[in-house]
Amino acid sequence: MEQHGCGGRNQVKKLLNSRQVSVDGQIVTQANRIVDSGLQEIKVADKVLPEFSGCYYILNKPRGVVTARQDETHQTVIDCISPSDRREGLYPVGRLDRDTEGLVFLTTNGPIGFRLLHPKHHVEKTYYVEVNGYLGLDAPDFFASGVTFLDGTKCQPARLTLLESREGHSSAQIQLSEGKFHQVKKMFLAYGVKVTYLKRTSFGPFELGDLERGAYRDLTDDEKKALKSYFD
Ligand code: URA
Repeated sequence: MEQHGCGGRNQVKKLLNSRQVSVDGQIVTQANRIVDSGLQEIKVADKVLPEFSGCYYILNKPRGVVTARQDETHQTVIDCISPSDRREGLYPVGRLDRDTEGLVFLTTNGPIGFRLLHPKHHVEKTYYVEVNGYLGLDAPDFFASGVTFLDGTKCQPARLTLLESREGHSSAQIQLSEGKFHQVKKMFLAYGVKVTYLKRTSFGPFELGDLERGAYRDLTDDEKKALKSYFD
């Protein structure tokens, strides 16, 4: 609200305490609430704040691109966004390895990014995975019971759906709600196979769908609605 000219932090606190602030018709009193006047109707002392929306993009990150704001040697996810859409403060929420493809959510709304990554919210991610070995019928149970990495780190249960199992090449879909460093690769290593291709196909309320490699898009109305459920 400060950025809308409602005064400094103390003034905003006073307005909240005197129940003069509402979001989509509901009185709000906590200062740490995530808001976006482009997605919600925010009223302060009976005046509707002007629309000031954050940027929210879904990118299909190609292999070779780094999930960073800037990099000396490699193309970044920010470079994939055309300069006219690159608003100040745009950053990727979470990271994919350089050789991983797929869904990266970018926003200028720092608090919502923080919330989506917070372990307490268990935001689910889905990956399509190819490996260099055989995934047996025991694999779903192995992942469901909580994988232990080769270094002893224990993971939460993950859901594995086998797609194809052959000697030397298998594919699967995996759903998990943690974000440990190289998590998917390390989980499959613990099973005894190496990931040869990895693509994130969903992140929380967002689906990659048929977005072309390297392309990005705005959120759909349904996705904006789903995103708002993480604001509270
Ligand atoms: N797990 C990995 O190992 N790599 C990624 O890029 C994402 C999840």
